[in-house]
This record gives sequence, structure tokens and C-alpha cells, in this order.
Amino acid sequence: MFLVLEGIDGAGKTTHAKMLHEYFRSKRQKCVLTDEPTSGTIGIIIKGFLRQKSGISPNALQLLFASDRAEHVEKFIVPELKSGTNIIMDRYVASTVAYGTASGLDKEWLISINSKFRTPDITLLLDIDPKASMKRKFPNQDESEVELFESVSLLEKVRNTYLELAKVYDNYFIIDASKSKDAVEQAILNKIEHLL
Ligand code: ADP
Ligand code: MG
Repeated sequence: MFLVLEGIDGAGKTTHAKMLHEYFRSKRQKCVLTDEPTSGTIGIIIKGFLRQKSGISPNALQLLFASDRAEHVEKFIVPELKSGTNIIMDRYVASTVAYGTASGLDKEWLISINSKFRTPDITLLLDIDPKASMKRKFPNQDESEVELFESVSLLEKVRNTYLELAKVYDNYFIIDASKSKDAVEQAILNKIEHLL
């Protein structure tokens, strides 16, 4: 099974990727956790640009993401799936479309440059209000600071595109990630159990 977790920063992707890893292992199934951008050569270049926040055109950045993804899919994901290993991915194509659109790029173009990549068996969108997710990431900031936090309005755009993608992609499910960890875990397991 090729399973992808999506959502804005602080939605709970890392938390629930680890939970799913444990879940598969408890069922004695082979399973690997992986994420994007990768730690390979192209992924490292991407991370460098993300840290600088400027210095690369948004189009060029998304082409780098697609290039990193091509490497990851061909050299890692497809061979692992062939050997019977379940893959849990932290971010994939939907991240490109959601963040790229929020940065002003054309959504259809972003979808098209990613259209040849292996389709996940299931994508779970951990959906949450950006103010709530920022509170999780930065619990010591007070409310007004969280509201002023520049990334909230950008993340609102990202969230909206993520939600719209439910109409575009198959096997793409929205999980209410504002609930407790246990409730989110249960919702995720309910979605995947019938696929196993
Ligand atoms: P992401 O990987 O999507 O950025 P994380 O999994 O790192 O998000 O979660 C961000 C923070 O929120 C972590 O401190 C995590 O423990 C906490 N968290 C995750 N899910 C929940 C939840 N359902 N309820 C409360 N806190 C959560
Ligand atoms: Mg994370």
C-alpha cells in the first residue's frame, strides 16, 4: 500500500506517520516511512532554497520538487512497493499543488507536471484551521501573535486548495485533524482498514 499524509504545517502528519508505522509493524507487515523534500541531492537543494525564502522563482522551485519526486518514485518508492513494502509518505503531489497555488502558480500546470507519478493508494488530508495548527507548532505564542503570524493567511490558501483537491483526485480523503490525537488516529485507521 502506498499511503500519503498531507496537510498544512502542524496538522499532525509526522505524529500520525509514526503511528501508522507502528500499526503496520504490529501487523507484521513491512513498512517504511519517507518524506518530501527528500534527503537526496535534489531534496537538499530544495531545502536550501526554502531556508533562504527567496532567490528562486516559484516555477523553478516547483520543477525542482517534481524532479526530486521523479528520483524518489523511480529509485525508491516503486522498488519498495514491488518488494511488498508498505510506504507511508509525509507529503507528495498534493503538497506541490496546494503550496504552489498559494504562491501564485497555475494549479492546472502544477497538476499536469505531476500527472505521471505513481498514484497513491490513499491520500489522507489532515485538515485543520491554520490558527489551530500554528498553536500546536508554537504553543508558547499567545493568540494575538498567532493571528498576526504572517504564515496564517498563506496557510489558509494552502488549506483551501488541499480541500478542493478532493474533487480532483481519487482515493483522497479529508480527516478532521482538529480532534484529539486518538480521534484522528481512529479516523485514519477506519479509512485504511478496508483497503488492507
Ligand atoms: P506536521 O508534521 O503535520 O507538521 P506534527 O505531527 O509535527 O505536524 O504535529 C505538530 C504538533 O502538534 C506536535 O507537537 C504534535 O504532538 C501535536 N499534535 C499532533 N496531532 C495532534 C492532535 N490531534 N491534537 C493535539 N496535538 C497534536
Ligand atoms: Mg512533520
